[in-house]
Formats: sequence, structure tokens, C-alpha cells
Amino acid sequence: MKLSTAGNLKPFGPIYENAQKQFLKAAEIMNLDSNVGNFLLWPQRILEVHFPVVMDDGRVEMFEGYRVHHNTAKGPAKGGIRYHPDTNLDEVASLAFWMTWKCAVLNLPYGGAKGGVKVDVSKLSERELEKLSRRFFSEIQMMVGPQKDIPAPDVNTNAKIMAWYMDTYSMNVGYTSLGVVTGKPIDLGGSEGRPEATGRGVSITTNEACKVIGKDITKARIAIQGFGNVGSYTAKILNEEFGAKIVAISDISGGIYSENGLDINELIAYRDSNKGVIAGYPKATPITNEDLLELDVDILIPAALENAITEKNADKIRAKVIIEAANGPTTPAAEKMLLKKGVLIVPDILANAGGVTVSYFEWVQDLQTFFWDIDDIRKRLTKMMVNAFAEVYRTKEKYNTDMRTAAYIVAINRVANAVKERGYYPM
Ligand code: NAD
Repeated sequence: MKLSTAGNLKPFGPIYENAQKQFLKAAEIMNLDSNVGNFLLWPQRILEVHFPVVMDDGRVEMFEGYRVHHNTAKGPAKGGIRYHPDTNLDEVASLAFWMTWKCAVLNLPYGGAKGGVKVDVSKLSERELEKLSRRFFSEIQMMVGPQKDIPAPDVNTNAKIMAWYMDTYSMNVGYTSLGVVTGKPIDLGGSEGRPEATGRGVSITTNEACKVIGKDITKARIAIQGFGNVGSYTAKILNEEFGAKIVAISDISGGIYSENGLDINELIAYRDSNKGVIAGYPKATPITNEDLLELDVDILIPAALENAITEKNADKIRAKVIIEAANGPTTPAAEKMLLKKGVLIVPDILANAGGVTVSYFEWVQDLQTFFWDIDDIRKRLTKMMVNAFAEVYRTKEKYNTDMRTAAYIVAINRVANAVKERGYYPM
């Protein structure tokens, strides 16, 4: 039987359909058994909730949210919860799907999940935000738990909201449960090294990519789009620990360029004193966001938004390596053009997996109630990222394919084996 999406289940929308296409490409190359393939193409569970929140003016407003488990063959489901006015089932289901593969590329004992609430947080007071968070977490409590599903922060959610989630769950079950969410404050069982984790993972994969193309990283010229959590830690770690030169950075306010390399600590201090943006930084030349993507650099690191690299700008990109720090920064059409030019693209499910890996460390520490220091965290993260990169690169060579497809092959293999070993209950 041929593996296909044609059946009695329908994709939730265009994002999910595209995600399935990436999967099908890898499945075909690796000749995946269609029985397991058909199972892995679809989410296992979807919960849609509609819940009331009493607003500050006394009105009761209704909100809509989701929690999706894509697959739990390898362990409890893992994935963030986002608050955004445009959140919908297509997006949440696709993000859950990708989480399965991201966890599996790093060989974490997790399945993939994601959640979301359709809300514009800028319109909520702090009190309304807390009530919405606690009620939503109670609504999805049937799905979550330290052995079932461990949520984490995502767009517009943070450590403070994770503390509310953890407290809500603990109050509902009647005992303190540290391991029910990750990304918590340190005092509530959060892990050392979580804020820097994604940027550190991106830096480690950048170093590994330099090794395979034979480029000395201390001589590499790097441009980074986005200077938030991921972009700024990536810039700092690449520069301070790997000796790389960051020649250009951009954010929502525009970009800057310095032929001799930017002083990252100074730029972070400037951003923090300048409403969170880099515009107006005096020691560099202003450039546009488009200029940044098209610079003559060795490595380009999109660390801002999805769909930053499209068929409109792909042929102007001169970097030999693209490290996808953001989720989904390269459109499929752009990727085709870049691969044709011989660009090495390290895919998001590998490059930015440092965050979920340290979330896994947080959960492990919470379950054993024994905590590691920052050196332990960094050592373990480095080992896991280096091994994952090597495995994906070996697979790319073996199948003569691109890094994204290779990452899918590695991940699908692990999850498919787990499914087969467990069997299809009831037989
Ligand atoms: P963030 O909100 O801290 O930073 C986003 C940055 O992108 C900001 O500097 C912002 O100014 C910039 N930006 C926004 N629009 C832009 C535009 N049009 N052009 C250029 N820059 C623009 O977010 P983050 O946590 O750093 O996440 C960045 C990306 O990494 C997202 O795709 C996110 O999904 C992904 N990611 C984050 C983590 C994590 O642990 N934070 C983990 C995995 C993946």
C-alpha cells in the first residue's frame, strides 16, 4: 500500500499539508512502511476548549484554545503553549507534528505536542492574563501531567505563566508537581541555562557545520536576523566562545553592519537601554533587513520569524551555510533554489533543538529533585547537539539528500521503531 494523505482524515489547513509533504519526502526516500507512515501522518489527540474569563470590568469573555498531541510512542508529549490572536488548529497541529520530529532528532524520550489560546495579550491586564492562564490550564488538565504531557513557553508565554500553570495543576491535584511544565523560574524547579539554551544549541550546530564544509569558524563572517532571545545568545556565544565574527545583525527596527565585527555585549546593553531594539546603534553602518539577507557572508542565521527566506530573495543570498535558528524561516520554494546553488541548510528541527533539550534536562531534574549546575547543563547539551548533528550529516551522505530530509529520516526512523516495537494495540 502506498503511503499517502488521501484517506478519510483531512489536513487541518495549508500549514499542516506542507508539514506532511516534508514528512512524505523523507518517508519515500527511506522506504517507510506505509502502515506506520499512515499512523505518523496524523495527530493522536486534539482537544479544543472554550472557556470563560471574568474581565476587570465584570464582563464574562469567552476564549478558544487547543492542545494537540501528535504522537506519544516514545514518551510523554512535549511542546509549548502560545498566546496569539491568529492561533488556530492548523498552526497548533503543525507545530505539534514538528515537535515529534524535533524531539526524535535529539533522541529525547518524548512525543510532540503544542497548545495555543486565541488571544491578544496586549489587551489583557496582568490579572486577566493570570485568570486566563489558570483557567486554560485547568481546561487542558485531562491531557497534561509529568508522565503525560509537559508544556513549556512559546510565543507570548514566559516563566511567570509557567509558574501559574505549575501552581494551578498542583492545587488541582493536591500536591506540588514540579515536573508538569518546563521553562519555570529557577526557584520553582527551573533549570540553569534554559534562557541561553536555544542560542547555545544554534552556536554548537554552526560550529559543526563549519567543520563539515572545512571552514575555520574564527575566520567565518556571520549575519544574524533577529536579536531577541535566540539571536542575541547565538551572537554572544558564537563570538565569545567560538571566536566567530558577527558582521551584521537586524531586528524589527532594521539592521546594522560592521566589516570588522560587532561588539555583541555592547550591542545587548544598547538594545536593553533602547526599548529592546538596535536601531540607532552608533558604532555600525545602518542597513535594511533585505540588505542583511543578501550580504557577502559565509553563514546566515535567520533567528526571527517564519518565512524570512522566500523565492523572492533566495537567489540573492550569498551565504554558503544557513542555520535555521527560527522555526520555519525558509519556504519550500526558496529551499529548492538554495539547495540547487549548493547551500548547506541546517534545519530548524536540528538547529534550534537546544531549547527543548534543556527543557528535557529541567524535567529530569524535577523528577529526581536533584539539580545540576550550569557546567553540567552545558556539557550535556554540547554532547547531545554534536551527536545529533553528526547523525543527521551521516544520514545526509548515506541517502545523498539534504539536511532537512536527513533530519526527518533520523527522526522518523526512531519514532517508527518505537511504534513497531509497541505494536498496534489492540492487536
Ligand atoms: P524573540 O521575540 O525574543 O525575538 C524575536 C526577534 O526577531 C526580535 O529581535 C525582533 O525584533 C526580531 N524581528 C521580528 N520581526 C522581524 C523582522 N521582520 N525582521 C527582522 N527581525 C525581526 O523570539 P525568540 O525567542 O528569539 O525566537 C525567535 C525564533 O526562534 C522564533 O521563530 C521561535 O519560534 C524560534 N525558537 C525559539 C526558541 C526559544 O527557546 N526561544 C526555541 C526554538 C525556536
